[in-house]
Amino acid sequence: MCIFCQIVKKEKGADIVFESERVVAFRDINPKAPTHILVVPKKHIGTINDMTEDDRELVGDMVFSAKIIAKEHKIDDGYKLAFNVGSKGGQIIDHIHLHLLGGKN
Ligand code: AMP
Ligand code: ZN
Repeated sequence: MCIFCQIVKKEKGADIVFESERVVAFRDINPKAPTHILVVPKKHIGTINDMTEDDRELVGDMVFSAKIIAKEHKIDDGYKLAFNVGSKGGQIIDHIHLHLLGGKN
């Protein structure tokens, strides 16, 4: 099972800041911004390239969740959302995740 599936199933610890039926979000262990949160679907999908038609709403849910989390963490005046796709795109963990980065001036 991949590391993010283990976090989703609470078999591995993480600093979880948000959870819904389909999504979980937790603090990045190696933050690249004052607020760096990963928004992760509970369903295992390797990369954005592995998305199917059925996953369209789920990925929309991830973005909507990021919006809510940004407001909760008071960074909604400006933040960055990013998907790394594949190793050439900087993706290390093979389970899709949306980076939410904010808190910089
Ligand atoms: P990516 O390069 O897009 O695959 O991003 C993976 C991110 O996951 C990196 O920013 C890592 O710091 C982060 N990361 C790796 N393992 C963990 C973990 N156990 N808990 C929280 N974040 C993690
Ligand atoms: Zn997984």
